Amino acid sequence: MEQKQFQAESKKLMDMMINSIYTHKEIFLRELISNASDAIDKLYFKSLTDDSVGMNKSDFKITLAVDKDARTLTITDNGIGMTKEEMEEHLGTIANSGSLQFNQIIGQFGVGFYSAFMVAKRVTVKSLAFGETQGYVWQSEGVEGYTMDTCDKDTVGTEITLELLDDVAADEDGNGGENYSEFLDQYRIQSLVKRYSDYIRFPICMDMTKSRKKEDS
Ligand code: ADP
Repeated sequence: MEQKQFQAESKKLMDMMINSIYTHKEIFLRELISNASDAIDKLYFKSLTDDSVGMNKSDFKITLAVDKDARTLTITDNGIGMTKEEMEEHLGTIANSGSLQFNQIIGQFGVGFYSAFMVAKRVTVKSLAFGETQGYVWQSEGVEGYTMDTCDKDTVGTEITLELLDDVAADEDGNGGENYSEFLDQYRIQSLVKRYSDYIRFPICMDMTKSRKKEDS
């Protein structure tokens, strides 16, 4: 499959972000949940005037799932989804990046979707846009670019899978270690959701145990 290049600005920003911001890497979760919530808002508002949406307010939710063996964290929403063109446009460029002033961008937390690359070695986005029949998958390992293809997806919305980076052991003085496996821990995720995404107006669900299936918000 042909590898497409990110726009030069996106590439620069990603490089800077991935290399310099590790202090609050957990904010990626807030960014992705916020995008999911925006997408749900859009479909919810559409549902108020368009019967063909066929959803009630209580049907909308964001689902988080971890797979410890595959080292993945998946964020799924049943919002409006993205068409092929929207994926290309929104994920292939930095939206509204008027300025590349790093501090300014980070200060406003406009890092958005790209913050996923602070914790993931590969990001896969599957989406089916409302009103479309064909789903698309976007995949990227960071600055090198991204691929796009068609995929099977029969529910409207977006599913973002992060393949987490490998943990880095600290040196003998205890410096320089990085723990990405923490994002496979359901309780850690739960506490991050409580801390950063409390204001989200739609349910955020996660299976808390494998043996005892229970949805927790
Ligand atoms: P921002 O949210 O500030 O616009 P992002 O980089 O976080 O910037 O996201 C870029 C765009 O990608 C969003 O504006 C939206 O159009 C699209 N997008 C991201 N995540 C989703 C999602 N889960 N569902 C639908 N569209 C999305």
